[in-house]
Amino acid sequence: MTYTETKEQGENKYYYRVKSIRKGKKVDKQRVYLGGNLKKQELHEKEQEADKELENTKEKPAKNEEISKKPIKKSNENKKINTQGITAEKDDFSEWFTQIMLKADLADYTAVSGCMVFKPTAWAMWEKIREECDKRFKKLGVQNVYFPMFIPEKYLLKEQEHVEDFAPEVAWVTHAGNTKLSEKLAVRPTSEAIMYPSLSKWIRSYRDLPLKMNQWVNVVRWEFNNPVPFFRTREFIFNEGHTAFETEKEAIAEGPNILNAYKEVCEDYLAIYGIIGRKTEKEKFAGAIFSEKIHYIMPNGKATEGPCFHHDGQNFAKAYDVKFLNQNEKEQYVFQNTWAISTRMLGVMFAIHSDDKGLILPPKIAPNPIVIIPILSKEKKEEVLKIANEIKETLNEYSPILDDREDYRPGYKFNEYELKGIPIRIEFGARDLEKNEVIVARRDTKEKQSIKISELETEIPKILNEIQKSLFEKSKKLFKSKIKSSNNLNEIKEIIKNKEVGFTPMCNNPDCEAKLKSETGGAKALFIDNKKIQSEKCIICNKKADYFVYVAKTY
Ligand SMILES: [Zn+2]
Repeated sequence: MTYTETKEQGENKYYYRVKSIRKGKKVDKQRVYLGGNLKKQELHEKEQEADKELENTKEKPAKNEEISKKPIKKSNENKKINTQGITAEKDDFSEWFTQIMLKADLADYTAVSGCMVFKPTAWAMWEKIREECDKRFKKLGVQNVYFPMFIPEKYLLKEQEHVEDFAPEVAWVTHAGNTKLSEKLAVRPTSEAIMYPSLSKWIRSYRDLPLKMNQWVNVVRWEFNNPVPFFRTREFIFNEGHTAFETEKEAIAEGPNILNAYKEVCEDYLAIYGIIGRKTEKEKFAGAIFSEKIHYIMPNGKATEGPCFHHDGQNFAKAYDVKFLNQNEKEQYVFQNTWAISTRMLGVMFAIHSDDKGLILPPKIAPNPIVIIPILSKEKKEEVLKIANEIKETLNEYSPILDDREDYRPGYKFNEYELKGIPIRIEFGARDLEKNEVIVARRDTKEKQSIKISELETEIPKILNEIQKSLFEKSKKLFKSKIKSSNNLNEIKEIIKNKEVGFTPMCNNPDCEAKLKSETGGAKALFIDNKKIQSEKCIICNKKADYFVYVAKTY
């Protein structure tokens, strides 16, 4: 049986579509959130959409299981996998990506569908991102804090636009042991609703402003879409910056500082090129006045959103009553911003740099950018090992791996570290030592060169630097090569079909964006460009365009 449930909270009404299935004495219920204070016609449309979704939900989680089961089986035969390398081509993105992250030992699955394990290499890279961002946030006067991960239901319901956006994905805690809680608690999908009631207590006067807080936390958004490790998981990890200001001007001025800090970390460490751009009204964060994000383009032509900055104006301040006495002794609401970078950036970096042989890591983010592989034979084994250890000592500041395992052949080891994306491999045997040389192989270009042992200390930093720079340049070239501009809808459709990104004039009517999506088989208006509109017409409705947008399918 399917029916609509109405819930009243003060003056607001919230609607849920419920499907109940009787199994003997038990009744199984599935709920889809429809929205708040809907008009009759709107409600009817949402009900129809929800019915379709309810029909599908049973099958979708099964698909998740399928993805998570397949690789677990394989990962039991770890050794075999590593010698096999990647069997998918980069064009088959999801298969290729899943293989890389499992075989390069970055992540794994558990019994919890849609959630993932970060293995040590991946986690170390996230720690680096966190460390570099934190340094920059602190320079901007931001302090780190920690708020509870549980949010009382009534707090979450306070900002309506916000709750509408998150409600269908919220995971709830309803019991402690066998005792039903008097009020159910949401596991944070984001923290505005738990932080801002505290701000309302803490901020009394203009002297308490600006207030700049940040927390590094996990959040849960229980999506039913197919999970992709690092890109879309039900639990993910990010920073949440929350700042409050006296004036709108000050609040808006924070945007470029934050976005540039993120951009710098992503460019300098992850070596990926992206563009900062404002989202359209339709695509902005629920509850924000405007949203700006850094956008990246992947080799398969799909775009992905990176770090974001939202200016929330006084929307949340009004919902959570964050007021203060201003310099004229008048009461006013604060102006607020929120901003974030998530573990998705690791996924973006892996996808952009890697190839059919496996992962390619930029030296500055790789926890161990160098591997030393001595080729051990019976003669002069001791001497080769001694030199290997000396080289390790010389390059100590890069935490090199010294692989002196004797039960693995050199070829096996080469493949393994190629798969894992280690930027530089140093290999040598007894014969190389006669010339006081080693062979240095680059992972990105696969070039090899002989270098005198005495010159490693000066040459290796140069090569690491070159790799870092060349990966960034390659990513920039990829981005630029994918953009194709056109004022014609049929051409834009072709561009999207060819796995590229369109650049086109549009008006700001959300209906045009919706139509663009259906016409192109799912591409959306990614962000607004700074280029000024002259007399161009909207590609969809043919009325005067408001701006140029990038059009792409996204992850
Ligand atoms: Zn239009």
